[in-house]
Amino acid sequence: MEPIVTENLTKYYGKMLALDNLTMKIRKGHCVGFLGPNGAGKSTTIKILCSLIYPTKGEAHVNGFNPSKEPRNALEDVGCIVEVPDFYPQFNALDVLRYYGKIRGITGRELRERVKEVLEFAGISKWARMKTPKFSRGMKQRLGIAQALLHNPSILILDEPALGLDPRGVVEIRKMLKEIMKQGKTIFLASHMLYEVQEVCDMVAMINKGKLIAYDRVENLEKLFKVQVLEVDLLQPPKPKQLEKVKKLESVKSYSAEKNRIKINFEGDKTAQVKLLAALVKDVRLQVASFRPSVAALEELYLRLVEE
Ligand code: ADP
Repeated sequence: MEPIVTENLTKYYGKMLALDNLTMKIRKGHCVGFLGPNGAGKSTTIKILCSLIYPTKGEAHVNGFNPSKEPRNALEDVGCIVEVPDFYPQFNALDVLRYYGKIRGITGRELRERVKEVLEFAGISKWARMKTPKFSRGMKQRLGIAQALLHNPSILILDEPALGLDPRGVVEIRKMLKEIMKQGKTIFLASHMLYEVQEVCDMVAMINKGKLIAYDRVENLEKLFKVQVLEVDLLQPPKPKQLEKVKKLESVKSYSAEKNRIKINFEGDKTAQVKLLAALVKDVRLQVASFRPSVAALEELYLRLVEE
């Protein structure tokens, strides 16, 4: 049984169609990035899965239970963060986790041990007795993750866990998510950032204007964009003759060159990339110092796809 299933999930807010017949199955142990621009319908989906709102039409199933009809059963084995986590202002981190543990039916020694474990995992042990209003946004996100993990659920549903964090905070949250993935949990992670999904997830479900527009393995995402972009750093600026040769290579669609760097748009998969790099060195005789897929360019292509 798949941990998360949606069937023709549809949600209207008044006359506004926010989710349009969303059908997808999330398989056990996968980390699925739910990718889409702001307003795509990600939070709406997550709120339905977490039983905070009801769909207008269609159904969701979490661990085989419909969260709109049997929320207790559906959410028993689920940890979630919906939007930016916030806490009762009179509570410190320990209070938050103890309170939440009791709601989940964890008590006594088990509760003490679990609280200690998740505080350590989230890297906030030293702020355990600090009142939560003094927490930075990053610390709140960490406490949110600690809370979501407290009852050791097998499914995690997270809504933009790195939203609004500084670069270091973003990296730390990603590290945590990768660690959670290693534990074999199923993760459903909403994000508007392509890069985050590429970094953390193994599957991607792309949503736009309430509709699922792609659902595939992350490495197939580039295929979806049809054109890939490679940034190649050279020891010396390329000569005009060499650029002529680059243009004529089999998979090359277009290129731009600036100083010691060429950006090449090419068509094809990893095999095409291997051939292209070999041709740059052997046939064009460029002195390739390093190369990388261009993330910024992929981001542009993603936005174009979403606009279409
Ligand atoms: P995302 O999480 O992808 O940014 P949302 O699910 O929050 O998208 O929103 C989807 C659409 O539904 C947006 O157009 C948003 O403005 C609208 N929407 C969300 N919540 C409400 C609400 N409570 N009332 C009316 N419209 C809403």
